[in-house]
Parts: sequence; C-alpha cells; structure tokens
Amino acid sequence: MQTCQSPNFEDVNDARSNAMTGFPPALIDGYRDFKKNKFSDESERYRQLASQGQTPETLVIACCDSRAAPEVVFNALPGELFVIRNVANLVPSYNPDGEHHSTSAALEFAVQSLKVKNIVVLGHGRCGGIMAALDTSTEPLSPGDFIGKWMGLLAPAAETIAADQGMTGAERQTALERVSIAYSIENLRTFPCVSILESRQRLSLHGAWFDISSGELWVMDRETKEFFRPSIERA
Ligand SMILES: [Zn+2]
Repeated sequence: MQTCQSPNFEDVNDARSNAMTGFPPALIDGYRDFKKNKFSDESERYRQLASQGQTPETLVIACCDSRAAPEVVFNALPGELFVIRNVANLVPSYNPDGEHHSTSAALEFAVQSLKVKNIVVLGHGRCGGIMAALDTSTEPLSPGDFIGKWMGLLAPAAETIAADQGMTGAERQTALERVSIAYSIENLRTFPCVSILESRQRLSLHGAWFDISSGELWVMDRETKEFFRPSIERA
C-alpha cells in the first residue's frame, strides 16, 4: 500500500527545471524575486495567515485584464482582499438553477463564510469585454462564443449607448464601463444574503473605475452614481 509522501522539493538547476516542466522562465524569475523579497518582508504575515486563516474585510469584483489588478491598484497586502475576476467585472443576477456559477460561488463564500464588510466592483478603462459589447459586428472568437454570451448580460445598456450619436467612441466606451459597474452592484442586491446584510448595515456596496493610462481611480457616488476622483493626498 502506498503511503502519502511529501513531494521532493530539492532545488533543481534552470536547465533541469525547464527540461522537466517547460514552465515559463519569466514566471520562475518572478517567483524567485517574490520569495527573496516580498515573501521575506511579509513572512510573519504569511505565517499568521497560514495558521489563523484569512479574514479579508473587502471583496473586490474586477476584470481579468492584466493591467487592472486590484491588489496593485489598492496596494493591498496578502490577506487583505478577496478577489473575483471575470471578463468586464460582471455579476449575473441571482439564479439558483443548479448550473455552475463561479462568480456566485465565490460571492457566496465571501459574504457567508468570510463575512466581508465591503464589496467593491472595480471596472477599468479600455476594457476589451466592454469593447466587444459595444461592437457586436465582430466575429465570435470560437464556436462557443463564450465572450459574446457573457457580455450579452449588458446588451440592453450596450445597445442604448452604442446608438447615442452625441458621444465619441471613447466616451461610449467609458460610459458603458461605468454602467457595467452600476449594473453589477444592482445584481449583487438580487442575492438574498447581500440584500439582507446590506439592509442591516453589515455590508456596503461600492463601485470604482480605474484609468489605466493615468493610474487614477474614480469612485462611484452611491446616491447619484456619478464618479469622482479621490485626492491622492491623505486627509
Ligand atoms: Zn476589462
């Protein structure tokens, strides 16, 4: 009978490592920097997180886009943010139909188990998913057209904005990026666990939009749905 043994963690040289795994060398280099620097600096925090578990106060729902990582934008430390990322930071409405819902599953865990106090929907500029929603003339990327179906969640708003001749293309793009944030926040409220906790003031919902080119964050006013830029100076 086989026993469960620890894997062999001996260091291997680059040539052997690459030959064995084909793992991207840039990622190995990044890992080395992380282990020597960031992990070293935060080793006590990692040890505590490992022994005591995570207790993030904030769930961020963000886009998959490689330029808009929430941990980078909010300068967050390990354990501070619970993050869901999908194309265009969308939250589908509550739909307990027995199908597979990854965003809903992660949301359920964050709210019911981790008991986060804040949910932030973080959109961003130049979002490819939003671009696809505005330009429905492009061919699907594959027969499954997963992006087309996913972005179909925003179709009514996209059609309205796409038809607005008073805006430039860039303005339409930004407008739908910001509408998508408000849309996701409204859909969050269709989840009973979210709406109940929000009504008891134990959970608050927020929107924000990150401008990749300038590095500026715009925060959504919860009443007016307008976006404004917080000062970068601490009060
Ligand atoms: Zn995006």
